[in-house]
Amino acid sequence: MHIIAAASLLRATRTPALFSTSFARAICTAPSNNFHSSPFHSVAALRGFRTPVVGSVESAPFWADRSRYESRRGFYCWNKTSFGLRGAVASAAAVLSPVERKISTMATDSAYKDILTSLPKPGGGEFGKYYSLTALNDPRTDKLPYSIRILLESAIRNCDNFQVTKADVEKILDWENSAPKQVEIPFKPARVILQDFTGVPAVVDLASMRDGMKQLGGDTTKINPLIPVDLVVDHSVQVDVARSENALQLNMEHEFNRNKERFGFLKWGSSAFNNMLVVPPGSGIVHQVNLEYLGRVVFNTNGLLYPDSVVGTDSHTTMIDGLGVAGWGVGGIEAESAMLGQPMSMVLPGVVGFKLMGSLKNGVTATDLVLTVTQMLRKHGVVGKFVEFYGDGMGKLSLADRATIANMSPEYGATMGFFPVDHVTLEYLKLTGRSDETIIMIEAYLRANRMFVDYNEPQVERIYSSYLELDLSAVEPCISGPKRPHDRVTLKEMKADWHACLDSKVGFKGFAIPKDAQVKVAKFTYNGMPAEMKHGDVVIAAITSCTNTSNPNVMLGAALVAKKALDLGLEVKPWIKTSLAPGSGVVTKYLQQSGLQQYLDRQGFQLVGYGCTTCIGNSGDLHESVSAAITDNDIVAAAVLSGNRNFEGRVHPLTRANYLASPPLVVAYALAGTVDIDFETEPIGIGKDGKNVYLRDIWPSTEEIAKVVESSVLPDMFKLTYQTITQGNPMWNQLSVPGGTLYTWDPKSTYIHDPPYFKGMTMTPPGPHGVKDAYCLLNFGDSITTDHISPAGNIHKDSPAARYLMERGVDRRDFNSYGSRRGNDEIMARGTFANIRLVNKLLNGEVGPKTVHIPTGEKLSVFDAAMKYKNEGHDTIVLAGAEYGSGSSRDWAAKGPMLLGVKAVISKSFERIHRSNLVGMGIIPLCFKPGEDADSLGLTGHERYTIDLPSDISQIKPGQDVSVTTDTGKSFTCVSRFDTQVELVYFDHGGILPYVIRQLVSNQQ
Ligand code: SF4
Repeated sequence: MHIIAAASLLRATRTPALFSTSFARAICTAPSNNFHSSPFHSVAALRGFRTPVVGSVESAPFWADRSRYESRRGFYCWNKTSFGLRGAVASAAAVLSPVERKISTMATDSAYKDILTSLPKPGGGEFGKYYSLTALNDPRTDKLPYSIRILLESAIRNCDNFQVTKADVEKILDWENSAPKQVEIPFKPARVILQDFTGVPAVVDLASMRDGMKQLGGDTTKINPLIPVDLVVDHSVQVDVARSENALQLNMEHEFNRNKERFGFLKWGSSAFNNMLVVPPGSGIVHQVNLEYLGRVVFNTNGLLYPDSVVGTDSHTTMIDGLGVAGWGVGGIEAESAMLGQPMSMVLPGVVGFKLMGSLKNGVTATDLVLTVTQMLRKHGVVGKFVEFYGDGMGKLSLADRATIANMSPEYGATMGFFPVDHVTLEYLKLTGRSDETIIMIEAYLRANRMFVDYNEPQVERIYSSYLELDLSAVEPCISGPKRPHDRVTLKEMKADWHACLDSKVGFKGFAIPKDAQVKVAKFTYNGMPAEMKHGDVVIAAITSCTNTSNPNVMLGAALVAKKALDLGLEVKPWIKTSLAPGSGVVTKYLQQSGLQQYLDRQGFQLVGYGCTTCIGNSGDLHESVSAAITDNDIVAAAVLSGNRNFEGRVHPLTRANYLASPPLVVAYALAGTVDIDFETEPIGIGKDGKNVYLRDIWPSTEEIAKVVESSVLPDMFKLTYQTITQGNPMWNQLSVPGGTLYTWDPKSTYIHDPPYFKGMTMTPPGPHGVKDAYCLLNFGDSITTDHISPAGNIHKDSPAARYLMERGVDRRDFNSYGSRRGNDEIMARGTFANIRLVNKLLNGEVGPKTVHIPTGEKLSVFDAAMKYKNEGHDTIVLAGAEYGSGSSRDWAAKGPMLLGVKAVISKSFERIHRSNLVGMGIIPLCFKPGEDADSLGLTGHERYTIDLPSDISQIKPGQDVSVTTDTGKSFTCVSRFDTQVELVYFDHGGILPYVIRQLVSNQQ
């Protein structure tokens, strides 16, 4: 859509008083994100000029109006400063001291404005301007991996010499030498993506910030995400009903009944905030929607061109790397910071160059390939690194195949599995309905800025940190399991591997079933029909997960297997819980177009929903007769799913063996009814002609699949599907939600609650708090994970959170998990340190979520002890060993301790993201000096601690020594882990969120 057209539509939908014609004109020639839409980044704010103009809150959700949604996708025309491009370019950054900066504001335009270059349009005119890496004239640029060039461009574009400095740019340019030193760099992604589990707390914080803004007399509508945020509601649907033609509708009804409060809140958020799109439940899976629709590849924001990049609160955000968009998963606080225009801190990663050669053999799928790649990369060791794929084999991999490999980056441990943009990418953009003009712009920009790979041209060799290569023709059909994604087993070895697992002691590859019990046959009755079950029998077969359902080759391959089996007379046993949960409606359209959906239906793979389902463990109950057969006979039952994680307990509590497989193999194993089979030598079943049917008899050839894909997967399907997404669905549209720019908190809600972060806040930053005579709340050893600090699972019946829920009349069976209640700080505070496996040295060997209240010696739950200290007016600290806060990044692992009154954590070392999350919540991170820890210093946790920090922030330096004394006369020196000047500013303000509010208010005054 043309920019001016978008402006007209906006004009029609906004409050006239706040959105004048002149404003519409102004914003549509306004600078892009580099010229900072953020008030505290704007030239205006820095110089004390007028404040940015912001439109009023939308009267209807974005998705309700296709045109407005389109304008959001391509042209973020509103919520921008009203400065013209030239004016912004001409404004040089003032040189301010760190303290002045914290008081005034941050960035102006880039310190690299000299390399801003015009990108001409074929036939005349220009697409816009861009920061040209060529114009840097630095020979190191050509050697950089493509993924690092994206970090470099972002640093250059956002270089304000405060949040992002020229020294940071130099670190990236000198990547070859600086990456091995593990240097940190700031990164500002172009956008943020959320799913509903992790997105709810982020929207709660934004809603609460508006209340905080009101309290300070500011304009509440100024609280909005400052970069595009897309939230896809996909994690809540469960397979309550399967193998029924009504399954989709019935599961959606259950989903809406269970999640009314959360969905209502998100619907309010979708209309109350600018720059936020909420894709309603029943639409698809976040990463597939991102790939097919939301991914921009290159942004053109009001005439400034720059590469798309995204952080998401879901680890499989990496799927978008298959489209050449740099993206990965982060914790909630980082995502919120990014939304609010703050830089994320990251270690400049090493990059593993992964060369692909040749092509896949006939009948081998992308899933086989990704399981092979995962095992190779696990072995190589890629944690914290980027993996960048290249080589002649790239041209043989479809975009969907690439996305499948990128999706599983968390399973092989990499931050990203990146596929630079090439002709295959452009073809996919065309297939998925992106306009010709957009695709021409994308190619022109990426070519001009050295980010496009053209395999028809001579390649300039890039430098990688290490190298791997794979001949695609060597990949064999395989599955992974029974408990970890990287335990790959080739199909021909599967039967032997299964028997070895039954024999082996309990572990990742073992169940320790005694020999005589291995042949047990459990007889049961299913709906009046005699049935039996053995170890290895399949009870769940699910075609699910973004990993595979975005790949038409494997989805249509599965349907062909279903058809061929049916033609020969094979059917899936009725007690196996089969399901189909694609990641977007496009899949349904091409399955129907091909005429193959009916065969999946007849094999029991009827549509159960558009969402994560079995992949996230929402597999629903098994039939009671099946459950009883498993538990009464201690059967090791199997699940086979086309997902990416199979840790014990994730898929279903009753399936101890869980195998990841391609969708066609999911159907094949469902037909066989067991994983205890050698497909080479044993038949899947007996055909209607009485003859054995083998896997090879029903397996489609690569060519056969390709033909169906070509005739069935059409660009119009993508266009139609996403038009519908923007219109919502009847259940969502009927949800009644309060209007207004401020959220009407329901005090009775146990899901959504107004957090206390901004209560009593004033415009004066509280300043750096020292710590005086604090008690030690917990004394930990090494490797305390975020799951110890803030568990996501069940709410134990004897826990403070359970007490809170019961007091509000919530029945025990409706407790749900901590994960689903992340929108309620009351429950999450009570759930902090509530992990039942917590080992706290104050308890002298007892394991559990308890601690000792030092003054009285009482043994209490951690929450109760923390509240007692708070009521008595005492600060608390936490002592810890190495790698405090490791595990998946979790915002509540920092928010929770803050709510408990923890003022500092003193550890041997911190997990990187968790440390920055602690700073974001105003908690002091300190490290013992190398070689020291609580034990070596003779600290028991029974002392009272005083941390000597200056009360003036300008007296504190990043990484400085800090002295700690105790009431027992011991004293020691720690290193402050405020690592940057920006983090000190956050600390001065009591955390990142209060900082943002004060900046916004001060920019209005
Ligand atoms: S389908 Fe699975 S991997 Fe994909 S977003 Fe959902 S839970 Fe995550």
